[in-house]
Amino acid sequence: MTLTNELQQLHADMRHWRQHLHQFPETAFEETQTAQFIADKLTGFGLDVHQGLGKTGVVATLSAGNSDQKIALRADMDALFIQEQNTFSYKSCHDGKMHACGHDGHSAMLLGAAKYLSEHRNFNGTVYFIFQPAEEGRAGAKQMIEDGLFEQFPADCVFGMHNFPDIPTGHFAVKAGAMMASFDCFEITLTGQATHAAMPHLGNDAIVAAAQLITALQTIVSRTVNPADSAVVSITQIHAGNTWNALPESVLLRGTFRCFSATVKTLIADKITHLVKGICAGFDVSAEIRFNPENAGYPVTFNTDAETAIALKAASAVVGEECVDQQPTPSMGSEDFAFMLQEKPGCYIWIGNGSSENSCLLHNPHYDFNDDILSVGAAYWVKLVEMTLV
Ligand SMILES: [Zn+2]
Ligand SMILES: [Zn+2]
Repeated sequence: MTLTNELQQLHADMRHWRQHLHQFPETAFEETQTAQFIADKLTGFGLDVHQGLGKTGVVATLSAGNSDQKIALRADMDALFIQEQNTFSYKSCHDGKMHACGHDGHSAMLLGAAKYLSEHRNFNGTVYFIFQPAEEGRAGAKQMIEDGLFEQFPADCVFGMHNFPDIPTGHFAVKAGAMMASFDCFEITLTGQATHAAMPHLGNDAIVAAAQLITALQTIVSRTVNPADSAVVSITQIHAGNTWNALPESVLLRGTFRCFSATVKTLIADKITHLVKGICAGFDVSAEIRFNPENAGYPVTFNTDAETAIALKAASAVVGEECVDQQPTPSMGSEDFAFMLQEKPGCYIWIGNGSSENSCLLHNPHYDFNDDILSVGAAYWVKLVEMTLV
């Protein structure tokens, strides 16, 4: 019997866990019921379970044989602040929250793999199963690392997986190097001198300075970044003024930028700073810039060569090499698994969630994880462990 067929026997369990998690979604650092559900299952499978890293994170350990090789597998547990519009029986019971990114499926697949591996133990070494909180914008992976994740669980390498609605079911996509972009936010406060709208010469107009600045920021990608590199800079908020006939004292701008290398990331941040200083000086307006004022910003999700080769072998063993896209276009989206890849060599892979007419994109109020792929994803984890820990 093939591994995927064997895991089909676990399919009903995984689907049940997945739909339970879907029904009771919890958002960043508040995944207490989710974490307890997962911890209880892992304890029931006979794993050694640790809770509390990154507030709600769960790490379980499973060893077999006598090798000191150690591999870490990571799933995310958190939901989004989105009002679900699905009507099926297991739709979200928590108003304004839903699993619209498939983290319910990620947790269920890793639980399935943990159950299978605890029953078969057909490997030589130690597996750390990481269930992290707060992937959506709150950098739960970073919090777990700061709380001592890799000191307490010293993995040699770390692997992550995310479903991708544009990829057909039974397919994977993975490549070495950058898979997902870095993500940074910025906030610029321009402060001029308020005045009557009919007498602009008696003040310093922060709105006109902001308008020049917004236009100038658009030249960073077209004139500063190498055309062979990908990057995007977007202003997403403008706040200023509250009446018709007065120039306000200040303007608040907020925005984001994304790219695929640390060099470009530094270049963009430096250029933003440079343009803000230069343009505001020209308009006699003072300026304050804050990078990532609320969140950590995410680094580039960068797969290392050797671990990508292992991931490719494991995925090919499950679905056949012809069903693994080895040259996917990197996504301008971002992923806090990138923080783990800064600490350890590793690989992040996409699993197809199906590209049928009815499937919708991640973060859509009609999205639902495709239960048909649970066995495929769990089989990938099992193969990865069995092929790495020999
Ligand atoms: Zn997401
Ligand atoms: Zn996600």
